[in-house]
Amino acid sequence: MNEANTSPTNFIRNIISEDVKNNKNNGHVVTRFPPEPNGYLHIGHAKSICLNFGIANDYEGGKCHLRFDDTNPSKEDVEYMDAIIEDVKWLGFEWGNNLFHASDYFEQLYDYAVQLIKLGKAYVCSLNADEIREYRGTLKEPGKNSPFRDRTVQENLDLFQKMRNGEFEEGEHVLRAKIDMASPNLNMRDPAIYRIKKVSHHRTGDKWCMYPMYDFAHGLSDSIEGITHSICTLEFEDHRPLYDWILDELGVTCHPQQIEFARLNLQYTELSKRKLIELVKEKIVEGWDDPRLPTLIGLRRRGYPSSAIRNFCDRIGVSKKDSRIEFEMLEDCVRDELNQHAPRVMCVLDPLKVIITNYPEGKTEELDIPNHPQNPDMGTREVPFSREIFIEKDDFLEDPPKKFFRLAPGREVRLRSAYYITCNEVIKDDQTGKIKELRCTYDPLTKGGSSPDGRKVKATLHWVSAAHGLDVDVRLYDRLFTVPNPSGEKEGTDFTDFINPDSLVKLSACKIERSIIGKQPGTTFQFERQGYFCMDTKDTTTDKVVFNRTATLRDTWAKIAPKADHVTR
Ligand code: ATP
Ligand code: MG
Repeated sequence: MNEANTSPTNFIRNIISEDVKNNKNNGHVVTRFPPEPNGYLHIGHAKSICLNFGIANDYEGGKCHLRFDDTNPSKEDVEYMDAIIEDVKWLGFEWGNNLFHASDYFEQLYDYAVQLIKLGKAYVCSLNADEIREYRGTLKEPGKNSPFRDRTVQENLDLFQKMRNGEFEEGEHVLRAKIDMASPNLNMRDPAIYRIKKVSHHRTGDKWCMYPMYDFAHGLSDSIEGITHSICTLEFEDHRPLYDWILDELGVTCHPQQIEFARLNLQYTELSKRKLIELVKEKIVEGWDDPRLPTLIGLRRRGYPSSAIRNFCDRIGVSKKDSRIEFEMLEDCVRDELNQHAPRVMCVLDPLKVIITNYPEGKTEELDIPNHPQNPDMGTREVPFSREIFIEKDDFLEDPPKKFFRLAPGREVRLRSAYYITCNEVIKDDQTGKIKELRCTYDPLTKGGSSPDGRKVKATLHWVSAAHGLDVDVRLYDRLFTVPNPSGEKEGTDFTDFINPDSLVKLSACKIERSIIGKQPGTTFQFERQGYFCMDTKDTTTDKVVFNRTATLRDTWAKIAPKADHVTR
């Protein structure tokens, strides 16, 4: 098997298949996923993970490395590293022994820098940051050579050694590649490759007081690891000449091919770590695992199956064209998966008491209800039925408009898998005039939810026996933003101006059937007629069960959007 054969093909796979056919890199395929441990992974990263690991899985002997690009210690943390490992595993990918850190190469990278100096291709520059910026020029104007550009090799070696020894302060000197200050590509105007940073590193401690820049460390790490195809997002296209320059000047044996693709953008959310960090730090959301965030840890807590995310990544494909994917596409993948596998239960979110006056007091029937309407393999469960039940408040209207087919005075409806009931009386609170409970009668001949005389009803309601149901908390999540592109909405606005005020609604004392007892947090159910709900892994305790709404049954946003738009403008 020398061709990609399981995942949908794309231009990157075509390039790789061609390389394998031509025996380039001896037919080997080695990719990598290189996260910077400065935040949690999000669904954009999932696109890159599925692509890189997917390619490795599809070619014979293919490998994908997980490499932490940990060259900027001031923003990085072990907490993030551990979370990234968890997330990639959860997505279903394995790296075997191929877990690496750019920090493992610091000594080697230093040697490479020394080599560049010796080749006359790097120099220590003593301009300060402002001056460096000034000398760089602009897109329209060429830059100017630094006055330190012609330092001798010996002088550079000396200064660079002293930088390493900690003899200078931050910003006093940087090591720069000596390329071309007139290049139309700003990245080639003598970019900095090492800067002094007196910060300890979570892996190398205080061994270093200067660290390599991303562009220098990245390509060389790829080369050290024998990566064949270095796949990255489009913003690195302009960095490719620098990537190639460094490897060419150093004459390394392994020169990976950098290939860029368009990053994932998703409507109604943000996929920039900086913005996600802001949402977390400003407490606009309740943490990295807030189910409204597009982080993998948030989506997992919300109940998104990892298989749905993998399917989504397959469906969106890989190209060089920037786009913003509709949120529904992700939700559809989630629904497809959950519709097949989530067991059904009944849960009343906003309960209204119904007393079935002709049902014997004290009697309980255990009804045997299938866990999945199309999948008998998922078995059945016993659901108790009794004289007092709860139905959804909005399944009843005293004065129903024409198209309302649910319960109303004098009307008969079906209780799911139970009986037909007819509403006879509405009991109201003396003081408030609000509806307190309904008095209904049931037809004992309709057991199981169908009538022997073929009598039809127009609605089926979910219900929970009052004496047997459990109280649970339910959190209804919706889109975090009210506009498809929060950071590009309008000039002069900030993405946080478009937070959806209804993105989280917390309900308590919802009534659920007791068959959920003993189920593990993290299990996702379909609440009949309501949507998919996942038992929260964080806040569920032995005393209190909390459910997160994963998705509604179908897309309801289209109806809501105009209203939500209005709220923020
Ligand atoms: P951000 O720009 O949000 O800070 P990043 O790209 O700097 O994210 P990294 O940790 O460097 O985050 O990303 C690791 C890998 O994931 C990189 O190869 C990057 O190109 C890729 N990646 C990040 N965001 C996306 C996205 N939205 N779509 C596809 N790939 C992405
Ligand atoms: Mg990055």
